Amino acid sequence: MDNLRMEGKVVLVTGVANQRSIAWAIAQALHAAGATPVFTYQSERLQKGVEELAGSIGSDHVMPCDVTNEEEVAAVARSIEERHGRLHGLVHSIAFANREDLAGEYLDTSPEGYRTAQDVSAYSLVTLCRYAAPLLAAEGGSVVALTYLGSVRVVPHYNVMGIAKASLEASIRYLAYDLGPKKIRVNGVSAGPIKTLSSRVIAGFNDMLEHIEARAPLRRNVETSEVASATAFLLSDLASGITGEILYVDAGYHVMGM
Ligand code: NAP
Repeated sequence: MDNLRMEGKVVLVTGVANQRSIAWAIAQALHAAGATPVFTYQSERLQKGVEELAGSIGSDHVMPCDVTNEEEVAAVARSIEERHGRLHGLVHSIAFANREDLAGEYLDTSPEGYRTAQDVSAYSLVTLCRYAAPLLAAEGGSVVALTYLGSVRVVPHYNVMGIAKASLEASIRYLAYDLGPKKIRVNGVSAGPIKTLSSRVIAGFNDMLEHIEARAPLRRNVETSEVASATAFLLSDLASGITGEILYVDAGYHVMGM
């Protein structure tokens, strides 16, 4: 299993908000495999916390980046080029929708709410890939985005975020096709529900956890570390033949008919 070893590989990890973030578990898994994670945070409010977490695994490369701001994405790419000269992996672990759009009916989604969810949660993968591609192409690379079953099934209250995740998953396939000739793979990890800052905003989230524990083939919910290790696998050379794929890490819940 030497090809899970990621010594000398530089991986950009977006979406660390705190120690509960899926992105943080991914950064820890990458660090354990020998990779060098570099980090972005969205708002100044998160800067100190993300710097402290990064420092705890020996990284001091932490940059601001609101993914809807193309100049900030470009600055991140420049900073990675200056410090490392290349990139081997990119983790997209970012989503946002207005709170009022994650309760009630999808039918009531406003045009601005729809655009916000799409811009932050789906189009951002395109922007990040466009700026990261020249760096990822230097030695071949792997991109992984976090997604959820609400993209292909109706999950009450997930609403506009389900539509954004459907768009994200379609983007994964088109980007896999565009970037394949540059030896860049693009995949998704569809995680089962996990308590984080973002997921708490979804109405009925605790009921969702109970429902899955009762019905999933493994009769439990997933751990953040399980999502992280699957992501590390897709980022590593062990997954060298896999692109355009959505890998479910959800205790098997997605196979159930009822
Ligand atoms: P999280 O810790 O809250 O992470 C979400 C991250 O997105 C935060 O760091 C947030 O930063 C960032 N973000 C939002 N808008 C941004 C913007 N404009 N620019 C840059 N960053 C932005 O929650 P999480 O559950 O780990 O979510 C990570 C990913 O996993 C998301 O794509 C989510 O949909 C996916 N996922 C989660 C679950 C689950 O149940 N938790 C299940 C399946 C998939 P701020 O805090 O500053 O807004």
